[in-house]
Amino acid sequence: MNNIDPKERFETIVSLLKRRGFVYQSSEIYGGLSGIYDYGHYGTLLLNNIKSAWTKSMAQEREDVVLLDSAIFMHPTTWKASGHVDGFDDPQIDCRKCKARFRADHVLEEFGINADKQSIEWINTELDKLRADKKLVCPNCKSADLTPAKRFSLMVKSNLGSPVDTLSEENVVYLRPETCGGIYLQYKNTVDSLHPKLPFGIAQVGKAFRNEIVAKQFVFRTREFEQMEMQYFFNPKTDGGNATKNIYEEWHQYRWAFYLNYGIPESRLNWFKHEKLAHYATDAYDIEYNYAMLGGFKELEGVHARGNWDLSQHSKFSGCDLSYFDEESKERFIPHIVETSVGVARTMLAFIDNAYTEEIVGDPTSLVSSDGARDTRVVLKIDKRLAPVKIAILPLSKKDELTNVSKEIFKKLSKKYFVEHDITQSIGKRYRRQDEIGTPYCVTIDFDSLEDKSVTVRDRDTMKQERIAIDKLAEYFDLQFA
Ligand code: ATP
Repeated sequence: MNNIDPKERFETIVSLLKRRGFVYQSSEIYGGLSGIYDYGHYGTLLLNNIKSAWTKSMAQEREDVVLLDSAIFMHPTTWKASGHVDGFDDPQIDCRKCKARFRADHVLEEFGINADKQSIEWINTELDKLRADKKLVCPNCKSADLTPAKRFSLMVKSNLGSPVDTLSEENVVYLRPETCGGIYLQYKNTVDSLHPKLPFGIAQVGKAFRNEIVAKQFVFRTREFEQMEMQYFFNPKTDGGNATKNIYEEWHQYRWAFYLNYGIPESRLNWFKHEKLAHYATDAYDIEYNYAMLGGFKELEGVHARGNWDLSQHSKFSGCDLSYFDEESKERFIPHIVETSVGVARTMLAFIDNAYTEEIVGDPTSLVSSDGARDTRVVLKIDKRLAPVKIAILPLSKKDELTNVSKEIFKKLSKKYFVEHDITQSIGKRYRRQDEIGTPYCVTIDFDSLEDKSVTVRDRDTMKQERIAIDKLAEYFDLQFA
């Protein structure tokens, strides 16, 4: 049942996520805003769990990484120093007939041509070759009347200060296109206040904004999104001059292991090496996930070696010395950086895609159609630690005798876990709802519970049920979620 057509699977998952209150189109009652999404109750819980899992792995469990929460607005010179004002753009191509707009590098990709980080001249030469062979047509309406590619800035402008009603150049600020800018700008304050010794990292989770040319792949590519980024600062001369190689390798393995730890099988992950590097980068790999429903392996996370370019540029443009003095070697230098950078929603989409399962069931507690035939159940087999709701408490009847017990259980367990108390509809339908949102355990309270002071706990994945004493429930779940 999981071999459904990728496009159908994509539509099914998108529809489930809306129907079950995970993801909504932004401003839907006004017709929507393209490439912008809102997150409902379960989506918010899932995103929070993903961000917590990342923070736990990146900061809590490491002695060498500290946290930061920097503002979205930064001094406009930040983005001149980083090169974003002049060069953060994508190649845009338009169809003159149907007016559809595309990323020219993605159009070339369809022909097996890798245009990653290539100049606009290079891209136009490749497009011209395809044109001459009469192969270049609009992916939407098949017209051959396409414009040449041109650079389109992804920077989102806003303005601050007075007068705020005009977008005058002196008031222009940018909504940050990536969160790491804030890390570079607070590098010095972090060193001066927390005194970390090299090598160390600064990690942060926050919103970023990009005026993406095409944002049609649901939450995979949006114009407003959250990133989880970490910049690791080090002295390249340490480790016998192998620090860059060794630290880079360590972060590769560490980030790869994160996905395996949360249930993504290795077969769905891939390393993509960037052949053409950004001018400052010394090496760049992406972890790709097989988003089959979006056409195959696509970038999930970047793990890049950035040399000392970022701090050098900000030193130069700000006039503030961002060098580091090593007490041991008595050496002063600009630290080098290895970066890990991933989108929260892209991570969510990978986890959901990996977890989404349709299976035929014969469980007597599942919904069985009137002719007694077995039914299909949809279940989100997501890692328990990421599941939005951990436990559902389901009394078999709405009678006070049972709901008094279930409310007590809710009160106790909700102090520690996100728990849901659901008394509506048949037990089969309630199980189905919890399966669809990935709740690992359902607790049912029946009339026997009043006698034996026990409840039935049902496991989401195996659908096995076991009887547990009410006063042992908290202990039982502590073990399950340990
Ligand atoms: P892509 O090639 O897909 O446009 P990128 O190489 O520009 O991505 P980075 O600048 O390296 O992406 O950003 C780091 C991470 O942030 C990406 O790996 C991705 O997970 C996430 N990300 C980037 N752009 C978007 C976006 N528009 N929507 C959602 N997530 C994004």
